[in-house]
Amino acid sequence: MRRPPTLYVHTPFCRAKCRYCAFFSTPVGAKGVAPAVLDRHVAALEAEARVLAQNWREAIGPAASLFFGGGTPSLLGPAGLARVMAVVRAHFLLADDAEITLEANPESATPELLHTARALGFNRLSLGAQSLDDRDLAALGRVHDAQAVEDAVWSARAAGFDNLGLDLIFGLPGQTPTAWLATLRKAVALTPEHLSCYGLGVEPGTPLAADAAALAALPNDDAQAEMFLSGAELLESAGYEHYEISNFARPGRRCRHNASCWRGEDVLGLGPAAVSTMSLPPNGARGLRWTNPPDLNAWEALALAGRAGSAGREELSSRVRAREAVMLALRTTEGLDVAAHRARFGENLPDERAELLDQLGRAGLAKLAAGRLRLTRDGMLVSNGIIRALEFEE
Ligand code: SF4
Repeated sequence: MRRPPTLYVHTPFCRAKCRYCAFFSTPVGAKGVAPAVLDRHVAALEAEARVLAQNWREAIGPAASLFFGGGTPSLLGPAGLARVMAVVRAHFLLADDAEITLEANPESATPELLHTARALGFNRLSLGAQSLDDRDLAALGRVHDAQAVEDAVWSARAAGFDNLGLDLIFGLPGQTPTAWLATLRKAVALTPEHLSCYGLGVEPGTPLAADAAALAALPNDDAQAEMFLSGAELLESAGYEHYEISNFARPGRRCRHNASCWRGEDVLGLGPAAVSTMSLPPNGARGLRWTNPPDLNAWEALALAGRAGSAGREELSSRVRAREAVMLALRTTEGLDVAAHRARFGENLPDERAELLDQLGRAGLAKLAAGRLRLTRDGMLVSNGIIRALEFEE
């Protein structure tokens, strides 16, 4: 049965731009979001939510998850957060047991903000730590230090968050596998319920991409592979399930929002640069996707003109959706349910890719068992190549 879309709200403000960041966000400085900017932002969100709720009223039901991402949602401050939440609740229903996540950065995750967030119904905190080593944090251009991460964790616990995730990055300039494992041990000592560990990507146009010394100090492929494999082992031995290439959780604490995205379920996104994907009748094999302008003024103008959902629209064919479904499912340790995939998209991977699957199996990179196709951990290391080979060879 088709589930109601999950909800995502993008907050496009950050205190300063991190050196590696290619996400859309506007640096607002230490004073935070100016009142006039916040007023316009909330008004545009209100206009966008009204139109989307109206246009998709047949598909919308109580959402199982709401995710405030960014950017830096915690930078909205207690009053701004309350205003944005009021917009969401005025136009969308949330399930009684909905997972409601706030992404926060340590420097703006103040005790007051966190208490307000809990009172507003947020029950999960995703904290952008990125490292617990001050040299790494400086190299990344983060505006906080490791102590601020610890302080934010304890403030979150004091505010009543019992579901807390830390985001970390490995493969940093000058980082060794030993140093990465030391960071992971410090993270585990903070007892988060969830850990996201992404390899550093060098995105064109960022300050990092233009820093020859930093690029020369990046760990080589072997060192990065060792960080991935030994990091996963460390976290598993500390009781975390490795449930997606880059994500680990205590039992029962997987991120519902991300899991829904990896299952290819519908999502309605609000805010600049937010992406929405909605299934189309009759069976959801085809879909509609739209991407909001990654520009504050352009998004505000569009939303305030009542044209939410009209920019960056593309209809997704069944074939495109089938490819995405394979790509997303193979990121997870649950893997791809091949019978469900066949029923939805008419593709029978075990037959259509029998030779390749056999090769992957013999190389120890993938496994087809109990009706599911999964990558092994070694396969996860080369997942992009496997997915390309599985899905894009004609
Ligand atoms: S806090 Fe996040 S979104 Fe903001 S600049 Fe840094 S990496 Fe980018």
